[in-house]
Amino acid sequence: MKIGCVKEIKKHEYRVGLTPASVQAYVQAGHEVYFEKGAGVGSGFMDDAYQEAGAIVVDQASTVWETVDMMTKVKEPLASEYKYFREGLILYTYLHLAANEELTDELTKKKVTGFAYETLMDAGELPLLKPMSEVAGRLALQEGAKSLEVHSGGRGVLLSGVPGVQKGKVVIIGGGVVGTHAAKVAVGLGADVIILDKSIRRLAQLDDIFGNSIQTLYSTDHEIEEQCKQADLVIGAVLIPGAAAPKLIKKSYLANMQPGSVIVDVAVDQGGCAESTKATYHDDPTYVVDGVVHYCVGNMPGAVPRTSTIALTNATLAYGLKIASASMEELIHDPVMVSAINTYKGHITFEGVATAFDKPY
Ligand code: NAD
Repeated sequence: MKIGCVKEIKKHEYRVGLTPASVQAYVQAGHEVYFEKGAGVGSGFMDDAYQEAGAIVVDQASTVWETVDMMTKVKEPLASEYKYFREGLILYTYLHLAANEELTDELTKKKVTGFAYETLMDAGELPLLKPMSEVAGRLALQEGAKSLEVHSGGRGVLLSGVPGVQKGKVVIIGGGVVGTHAAKVAVGLGADVIILDKSIRRLAQLDDIFGNSIQTLYSTDHEIEEQCKQADLVIGAVLIPGAAAPKLIKKSYLANMQPGSVIVDVAVDQGGCAESTKATYHDDPTYVVDGVVHYCVGNMPGAVPRTSTIALTNATLAYGLKIASASMEELIHDPVMVSAINTYKGHITFEGVATAFDKPY
């Protein structure tokens, strides 16, 4: 099969759908890879590395689109790329169709087979979303620590402390993938770490993972308010699948928090779990409300495209090889692979997308 990869054209997107290592794996499996010149530069991968791995590097994105059977990307195609859609083309990328009726219509009208990273379900997990939560969780500590510095408006606390000086207190609300990875870095730094979750089962798992190096607490409004009062850094990491994030940090709590303390609301992409959250971007990531610094960037992994690209492609490669090597007949009878198919032969084939637009599926 002919596999393609083009430069991402969405603003501030520096990730890329294939690394040289993934190109090599596709080529070894007997496929041809067409790669747009310069598409890997934002992630620190140069064209000669792709060439050495066996890719055919071409000057124009249009050549890649027009040549390949399967396009691997990171973000959903933008309107200027719709002209390349055609019957039978396989698209393998984050699609987020339930939030994009125009793209859904284009994919069905042109009979593109759309495999969406975000819906692929394997053994009860979403393995193509997980790596980005891992990156965001670890980065939340890094950004939070930076925001605590005095020139960022923070209270000037070093989370690890030094001998003779109290360490910083990190309060993590939500102990899933983001929360666990934030906790790993916080514990590594030597901070005092508290994780709140609504799930007793999850709290028990966290206790098994971290032992005495963290404190787990059951999440109630009262406990969140009390913990926020004492925190240097609060990390919002909750998720209720398919719903907006619950507003757990009320605006009224801010006045009782320590001046210069920091909230990193990772859940901002689901609306945020603080009432005072509003989405920010990497070029101006923080703002202050009632003396509390807020960091609310919706695409945190974009700040570290090299790590994010490698983490994402590590996860996408095995499924991508399967798509490239199996027949569509085999793929639609494979429960894991079919969970990623959102559009096929002119139909919406993922219930959540059909429901979002009240269309048949
Ligand atoms: P997850 O499902 O692994 O974990 C969510 C956790 O929240 C679960 O353990 C759940 O029990 C807990 N929770 C639910 N309600 C709660 C409550 N009231 N109090 C305390 N805990 C509660 O999800 P995840 O992968 O860790 O993602 C967390 C959030 O981070 C999501 O909103 C996700 O979209 C977001 N995210 C943002 C970025 C970014 O760049 N900003 C990147 C990746 C993920």
